[in-house]
Amino acid sequence: MAFSQKLEAWYNDFGRDLPWRGIDNPYHIWLSEIILQQTRIEQGRDYWFRFIEAFPTVADLAAATEEQVLRLWQGLGYYSRARNLHAAARYIMDQCGGRFPDTYEGILRLKGVGRYTAAAIASFAYRLPYPVIDGNVYRFISRLYGIATPVATDAAYTEFEGLLRRLIDPERPDRFNAALMDFGSLQCRPAPDCAACPFASECVALRTGRVDSLPVKAAKVRPTDRWFLYLDLRCGDSRLMQQRTARDIWRNLWELPLVEFDSQSAPAALVAAARRYCRESLGLTGLRFSDAGTCVHQLTHRTVHAAFLRAEIATPPAAMPENMRMVSAEEIKDIPVSRLIDRYLQGL
Ligand code: SF4
Repeated sequence: MAFSQKLEAWYNDFGRDLPWRGIDNPYHIWLSEIILQQTRIEQGRDYWFRFIEAFPTVADLAAATEEQVLRLWQGLGYYSRARNLHAAARYIMDQCGGRFPDTYEGILRLKGVGRYTAAAIASFAYRLPYPVIDGNVYRFISRLYGIATPVATDAAYTEFEGLLRRLIDPERPDRFNAALMDFGSLQCRPAPDCAACPFASECVALRTGRVDSLPVKAAKVRPTDRWFLYLDLRCGDSRLMQQRTARDIWRNLWELPLVEFDSQSAPAALVAAARRYCRESLGLTGLRFSDAGTCVHQLTHRTVHAAFLRAEIATPPAAMPENMRMVSAEEIKDIPVSRLIDRYLQGL
């Protein structure tokens, strides 16, 4: 039996029923693909429904403010995905006459869309024969064919794509791709049940005892440490907040005023730095700081060590940077904040 037929037979019995499968609305498919990058299906499903309810069409998404989009995205992390979604929706409205691109190359021009996402949208929405290659597909295919190229690199993508383009079912690339991803996720798992696998008789990894050693992973980059001191400056039921504007993590999200250190600092040094910052940047003197907690917040490429100091201020600072303002307890629910700041606001 051909590869695609065997895969299809397995998919008929075990494939997942997901709300963005079997639809051909490219905008809704695009949303699902961007949300599901680095997000589990169970969590992503809620966000997908939330987004299509708030922004049913690409025109609605383009018309929203970036702050509204970031707010709806809050909790998903990797906020550049939300910023790119928003920018791409505006590009579709401004440069494509409001029509979602319907070629692989056109889809690839959207901000935040790489080869995997373009292939997914092209195949699911337009039935174009582009294979999708995610981590699950790498695992399955590298084991089946005994491929030892380190995965998740450009070279690996090109190699696997070439192989899969010869295997893809040109009549139903959408079902082929859905089956491929599900097979890698549900059957050829990290610890697979090979006895129940329809590909067992031809699987190179099984035959050569390499199921546990494939796929080969590219060496991981160790996350870098960052040391943040956040100042919770309160005046009545309001607190001072600032928007991150630099090209850095959490760009355009809101947070407490921040002092960054190169390394871990003693509590007395943190208080001294807080006093200096308040005096020099905000014109506030004589503040009494109290410890408001610490936490370690893990991002993919960063480990953020955060300390929080709290102080009451009698009146808002007379002068403050442009990206800073007092925010009431009610209003804070409507501005997009990083997951770390959300954790702090919820009591860590
Ligand atoms: S036999 Fe095992 S390792 Fe090979 S494709 Fe099937 S589940 Fe994966």
